[in-house]
Amino acid sequence: METYRIVDGSFRSLVISHAQVERLWTGGRWLEGPVYWADAGMLVFSDIPNDRLLRAVDESVTVFRSPSRHANGNTRDREGRLVTCEHGSRSVTRTEHTGAVTTLADRYQGKRFNSPNDVVAHSDGSVWFTDPDYGITTDYEGDRAESEIGGCHVYRLDPGTRTVTRVIDTMVKPNGLAFSLDESILYVSDTGGGGKPDGPPNIRRFRVQADAVLDDLGVFAVVDPPASDGFRIDEHGNLWTSAGDGVHCYAPDGKLLGKVLVPERVSNVAFGGPKHNRLFITATTSLYSIYLAVRGAPAIDQPPPVGPH
Ligand code: MG
Repeated sequence: METYRIVDGSFRSLVISHAQVERLWTGGRWLEGPVYWADAGMLVFSDIPNDRLLRAVDESVTVFRSPSRHANGNTRDREGRLVTCEHGSRSVTRTEHTGAVTTLADRYQGKRFNSPNDVVAHSDGSVWFTDPDYGITTDYEGDRAESEIGGCHVYRLDPGTRTVTRVIDTMVKPNGLAFSLDESILYVSDTGGGGKPDGPPNIRRFRVQADAVLDDLGVFAVVDPPASDGFRIDEHGNLWTSAGDGVHCYAPDGKLLGKVLVPERVSNVAFGGPKHNRLFITATTSLYSIYLAVRGAPAIDQPPPVGPH
């Protein structure tokens, strides 16, 4: 199978021409939420319908936590602790270094979240997450329930004060999110279009202003075939996003540079490996990876090491 689709010649400098998409593991139902732990040499990811978090060390995959309360998106905070979006508990949690799980937030203005989906940590310690309703519309990825909030929004959580602020309320189903290298831009995808031509544009950009006020800069990219569910930024500020046919790479100006083709529909990606140059790809039932000529953004994907634990 063809590995790449080169759209712009500059894409060749980001990939290794003879590198292959490797299937590391299969056996999930809908894999999501990959996050790499450099200090442990492992990738943690979610198998949402099977209600488990998995751990991959090379091609050895074992259970990290089960039940996982239908965990979805994962990241690590600035102290290296796992932060997880859980459909089942409709909350955002933090796994302490002891293994204890702390609920950081489960409601906004007294109303329960729908089903927190994806999460990113800011260098100021805050945690930003999306809250579409995929975990409450059926019993497959959570528990079917009515939305209490009545919309799908993006929130900023201050883990110190546990204050939750709604930062975006103009999207249909906000899903993946990531900051630019200097954290001046927040990218958020909207999967509310269902692939329809008149659906909401897939990835939008917002300028992050003082006090976490966001200025909508409009459409960044329309991912085709959809969907941009989750994405990560590389060391040059390029955005690597899930798509219907693999992983698409966009330059910071929104130009599509190229694609890595994957045999299954992709949900999300994460940079990892000892040199941070390996892209891990969660795609429906399987975990894939490919080595790249570029590294992931260190400030976002690779928190500084914490003390011995
Ligand atoms: Mg997602």
